[in-house]
Amino acid sequence: MKSNYVIKGIFWILVYLLLAGAPLLILLLGEMPEGREFWREFSVALGFAGLSLMSLQFVLTARFKFLKAPYGADIVYHFHRQITFVALAFFLVHPLLLFVFSPDTLALLNVITAPWRARAGVTAVLLLLALTGMSLWRRKMKIEYTRWRIWHGVLATVIVALAVTHVVLARHYLNTPLKQTLWITYGIFWVGLLAYIRILKPILLLKRPYQVESVLPERGNTWSLTVKPVGHSGFHFMPGQFAWITIGNSPFSESEHPFSFSSSAEQPEMLTFTIKELGDFTRTIKTLQPGQVVYVDGPFGHFSVDRHPHAKQFVMIAGGVGITPMMSTLRTLAHRGEKHPLTLIYANRDWESITFREELERLQESLTLKVVHVLEKPPAGWDGEKGYINQAILERHLPKSEKPNTVEIFICGPQPMMNAVEQALSNLGIPFGDYHSEQFSLV
Ligand SMILES: Cc1cc2nc3c(=O)[nH]c(=O)nc-3n(C[C@H](O)[C@H](O)[C@H](O)COP(=O)(O)OP(=O)(O)OC[C@H]3O[C@@H](n4cnc5c(N)ncnc54)[C@H](O)[C@@H]3O)c2cc1C
Repeated sequence: MKSNYVIKGIFWILVYLLLAGAPLLILLLGEMPEGREFWREFSVALGFAGLSLMSLQFVLTARFKFLKAPYGADIVYHFHRQITFVALAFFLVHPLLLFVFSPDTLALLNVITAPWRARAGVTAVLLLLALTGMSLWRRKMKIEYTRWRIWHGVLATVIVALAVTHVVLARHYLNTPLKQTLWITYGIFWVGLLAYIRILKPILLLKRPYQVESVLPERGNTWSLTVKPVGHSGFHFMPGQFAWITIGNSPFSESEHPFSFSSSAEQPEMLTFTIKELGDFTRTIKTLQPGQVVYVDGPFGHFSVDRHPHAKQFVMIAGGVGITPMMSTLRTLAHRGEKHPLTLIYANRDWESITFREELERLQESLTLKVVHVLEKPPAGWDGEKGYINQAILERHLPKSEKPNTVEIFICGPQPMMNAVEQALSNLGIPFGDYHSEQFSLV
């Protein structure tokens, strides 16, 4: 299965490179404008490269399952973030080179006298700076996530539209019917993509509603929300995957949130998500009533034991609500009657706030499961692990693996815990490919 994902992964990287390079290839077709020096052409090439990278950002966040499966959603989002810096650098260096090698172009910065092509270009660069700043410092700027997401989408669309306007008005590279046709085709592709994301996908979700079956309290200020498909058969998922949920609104709403499944993948007719009260949206979960309509877009993610059929043992390292994908995994393996040796290292603040504490005890009877609780504030007389998960705790409890790929390790929890665990695993010489992380915070 791993090699299948590798082949698909390489294939989509090649497609990405082809699409990213397409505008440059179009430029090279046919005659070039005459009498223009190298640096001017180079600057233009950077501008086109920046435009195609920005346009491709919509593909990366369009939640195409075929695209995310080989890498995992968090890697794709990480790539999306890094590529914005590359596009921004191209967008900034493009005019800078012009200013240095053709100082007369500095006049284009004067928005009162500059032609519309320059106004469009300058505005696109300024908006891209604003978009990047808002994403980097969203929390510091106290911008609520859903509001940020709406602005992010709007700004990105306006930037690409302005950049295309800039290219069209500049005209230098649209001088043959072939180039014009190719550019129009490229434009139709992007409009089609936007229509898919904003219109077609929500319509498809509208036809596949779910309804709330129950909302049950769990330890640790969390709630288990169970939903069932209405008028359709739902979907299958792998344990450890997640879905985007929209509640009470139409699927056209921007207020959708990602949650890992906590239920067994062997019972896809009922989906359970276990949700910790953290903010505006998660605080509303406990108020949901049976029968209320919910939209579920999934499954997504690659954080699954099912992707590692060769493994002899699995280790799960969870902190707080990071237990949810592990719980789905344990419930699924119990349903399947699997006998793999399993270790769960589970960090919590105190004994009372351990979500699924009782069920984990029961699961130790049906699975070959060792649960190691690590408590920040242990009760009196506690002789288990204390404090935060660290290298010494991992050394005590990790099974010894003779070969790479035999013990697969899954990590999910607060970011500082994940960073510390990854560092400790690296110090212990565990191969990078043997541990897998799921981040609960995308921005
Ligand atoms: C792959 C994945 C799986 C997750 N699984 C679970 C789970 O099983 N149980 C659970 O309790 N939580 C899970 N989360 C986290 C959950 O999505 C956020 O806690 C929730 O969206 C917070 O929303 P809020 O409005 O209540 O909080 P807010 O206070 O508005 O947000 C708190 C933080 O959560 C993040 N966040 C908020 N809204 C979103 C959104 N729409 N999309 C992405 N991130 C957002 C932001 O970083 C934000 O700063 C998961 C997140 C991801 C990315």
